[in-house]
Amino acid sequence: TLKTKTALVTGSTSGIGLAIARALAAEGANIVLNGFGDAQAVEEARAGIESTYGVKARYSAADMSEPDAIAAMVREAEETFGAVDVLVNNAGIQFVSPIEEFPAEKWEQIIAINLSSAFHTMHAAIPGMKARGWGRIINTASAHSLVASPFKSAYVAAKHGIAGLSKTAALELAPHRITVNCISPGYVWTPLVEAQIPDTMKARGLTKEQVIEDVMLKAQPTKEFVTVDQVAALAVFLCSDAASQITGANISMDGGWTAQ
Ligand code: NAD
Repeated sequence: TLKTKTALVTGSTSGIGLAIARALAAEGANIVLNGFGDAQAVEEARAGIESTYGVKARYSAADMSEPDAIAAMVREAEETFGAVDVLVNNAGIQFVSPIEEFPAEKWEQIIAINLSSAFHTMHAAIPGMKARGWGRIINTASAHSLVASPFKSAYVAAKHGIAGLSKTAALELAPHRITVNCISPGYVWTPLVEAQIPDTMKARGLTKEQVIEDVMLKAQPTKEFVTVDQVAALAVFLCSDAASQITGANISMDGGWTAQ
């Protein structure tokens, strides 16, 4: 149970992050939601977490590409709930293009949101975790933290980076009852995956069906998408006492993709 604990999940207005936030709330944690989206939909998600799980939920609109906004988000969470005990670095975006056509601003943006934001949240949240002598840091990495695909240079670089950052943090924090791990999903059916289909069609000259079957599920021997609830269940497990000796791990949930 995570009763009396607080979880901050970046990029939790949609997809995997929202499923993780709900699953942690179901364990009794107070929740800080973060991410972009339609104001009414975000408020419905926030209020829904409170009413469904009987916890408190706040929303921060902090932009994960802005270090000052990230520091303020963590400070506000600590002021509101007294702690950030569980930190889930999940915000992420994708962009698909050959390197020579890849816009430099997109590269900077993906490195900032998918990688540097996790440094900034940890920088702000670790002192409190150390002071309380307990913490869980979970980073949503990707199969692309272990292997590459063409046309995803910034994403693959950022995800390999977060895998290294997680290992370093795990070593630094091991004496403090704070674990740091990556969850590395294969293809999970979310808005992020749906949105990259048109550009992948263009970059590879394929139809939508071909992208789904021949690019996405081709990588996944089970021929099924991972579900957001499966990823969330692993995040809950990593917060449990049973997982206290799992740290510095990069746990795949990819239908066999990276076994190949
Ligand atoms: P999604 O698009 O459904 O959700 C992304 C979330 O990040 C949203 O809440 C969005 O508002 C938020 N976000 C984007 N830019 C932000 C910014 N600048 N500041 C704050 N929040 C921002 O995507 P998803 O598939 O749920 O992805 C979540 C994470 O899982 C990402 O890190 C992604 O790389 C990773 N992942 C996804 C898959 C997949 O197949 N869907 C596979 C492996 C890893």
